[in-house]
Amino acid sequence: MQLVCTITFAQNKKSLQQLSDLITYLFQNSPFYQNWFKAQNISISDISSIEDLKKLRTVSKQDFAAHNMDFLCCNQNKIADFCTTSGTTGNAVMVPLTENDINRLAENEARTFTLAELNTSDVCMLMLTLDKQFMAGIAYYEGLRKLKIPAVRSGSVSPQTQLKNILQFKPTVLVAVPSFILKVIEESSAQGIEINSLSVKKIICIGEAIRDENLEPNNLAKNILANWNVQLFSTHASSEMQTAFSECTHGKGNHINSNLIIAEILDEKGNEVPNGDIGELTITTFGVEAMPLLRYRTGDIVFAIHETCECGSNEMRISPVLGRKNEMLKYKGTTIFPSSIFNVLQSQNFIKDFLVEAESKEGRTEKLVVNICCTEQTENFKQNLENFFRTALRVTPEIKFCSESELAAMRPAENRKIQRFVTR
Ligand SMILES: [Zn+2]
Repeated sequence: MQLVCTITFAQNKKSLQQLSDLITYLFQNSPFYQNWFKAQNISISDISSIEDLKKLRTVSKQDFAAHNMDFLCCNQNKIADFCTTSGTTGNAVMVPLTENDINRLAENEARTFTLAELNTSDVCMLMLTLDKQFMAGIAYYEGLRKLKIPAVRSGSVSPQTQLKNILQFKPTVLVAVPSFILKVIEESSAQGIEINSLSVKKIICIGEAIRDENLEPNNLAKNILANWNVQLFSTHASSEMQTAFSECTHGKGNHINSNLIIAEILDEKGNEVPNGDIGELTITTFGVEAMPLLRYRTGDIVFAIHETCECGSNEMRISPVLGRKNEMLKYKGTTIFPSSIFNVLQSQNFIKDFLVEAESKEGRTEKLVVNICCTEQTENFKQNLENFFRTALRVTPEIKFCSESELAAMRPAENRKIQRFVTR
């Protein structure tokens, strides 16, 4: 049993106490969970073991969006920061943080940096949005402050400015979206700067997977590593979880911090999947004050790794996100996640940018178009690409060449992340 296994590894007694504290806290403070427990006829005494968690129904992203502020467990005057995350309806969903929640984020990200073996002699440049109510920016920043590692808040700026900042501040570590790193590599080459002469030694990759289902570098990571002699670290986080799972230097899955979270991997029906099978990551947060979550289905499709890590840790680890549940495509009888399509496209040097468009009806994807902006717009290249798709996915999406501006016009206007997949 997956959960039992997790908890056996992870300080059973402490987790049980934390769970019990959480349930009591939710009963006392969470309008949403008060109703949730009531509707299921659950009382505090019904949850006396970790196993008892299974008695509770899971909470979906839709529940979270629809009842957003009912999840708030504290008074407005305790809120220190209003974060938002993209909701399921296109409207931003709020995830307010108290001072303690910010400290918890700091603790979490300090662990990310510790796993990547950073120390006070490092300089870490944050190449991510630090405003726009984005949680990751403050989380990484506070984590660095906690460890007294100097930070460079480069933010979400052009590859030219990032490169200029790297040259000026000489960071040894970057926190960045990996596909954006390719643009920095390109910029460096365009300026005639030898990328390996730069100060950067490690990159903590956020927002995109850098490993495949075998935990080997995917094509995106291979592209970076072919050009830049750096060490890449994978992370997996979300604002709702208020927690990041991060890799150690052995790169064998993202470690979960059992002090901060319980992770379950569930199937469609809400049952735990057999050990190592893929399923939906479902989380229960510990120590969150403003918006704690109990059995929250994240929509991320992953698998768990229980073997002891090469670093010696017995904590459960989580695979890269193989896909998002709501992005799962059933195309010509084959189940595909957009990330598998990305992986094929990212193996091609000619491709500068792309956007995958899917049109689905009644659970079936009727149209799957890969819009590509590339330097090699020939029939021959198209056929080669189709062959790559056939080998990797067993099916071939429609391939369309387009210009940078056409691609930009297809993307939703306001987004903090690079949009690579849209549904119509
Ligand atoms: Zn490890």
